[in-house]
Amino acid sequence: MVNKVRVATIWLSGCAGCHMSFLDQDEALLEIANQIQLVYSPIMDAKVFPEDVDVTLIEGAVANEDQEETLKFARERTKILISLGDCAVTGNVTALRNAWTDSAKEVLNRAYVETADVQPQIPTDVPTLLPKVLPLHEVVKVDFYIPGCPPPAGLINYVISQLLRGLPVSMEGKSKYG
Ligand code: SF4
Repeated sequence: MVNKVRVATIWLSGCAGCHMSFLDQDEALLEIANQIQLVYSPIMDAKVFPEDVDVTLIEGAVANEDQEETLKFARERTKILISLGDCAVTGNVTALRNAWTDSAKEVLNRAYVETADVQPQIPTDVPTLLPKVLPLHEVVKVDFYIPGCPPPAGLINYVISQLLRGLPVSMEGKSKYG
């Protein structure tokens, strides 16, 4: 039996649009599905990130301590880690709060106090926000970047297909996907 490539996907602070674009590969996704084993993803039920993952695609920026821990844990267990989409690559819309000096405090105040209709209070049972939203490469080593908001399905397919074939990935001339 041929060993399938073990693939994971993670959803940090993003809108899920990058995962939607991943699924938008349509029939090309079936071709990929024959060659991979999906071992962890928000679209399946696995609760713990497994060991020995070959490729992990991560959507979203790092906005809180739980996500920072998740990302570092995944990095330790993954051979190839991919920043999927502009929030992961640059922070993008998730990082808009970085414009505030004390952005963690400001965003919590805005969400739970200033705009609350009843019982304004900052919850204590939510993950602690980082002082600034970070793109993935500011926390761990990233091997490949797939830009776009969301990244075009064709570009995602190109990168994954090249990796599955053991071929180099080059973004030159890939504007045709956008
Ligand atoms: Fe959503 Fe765009 Fe961020 Fe992807 S890059 S999570 S589509 S906002």
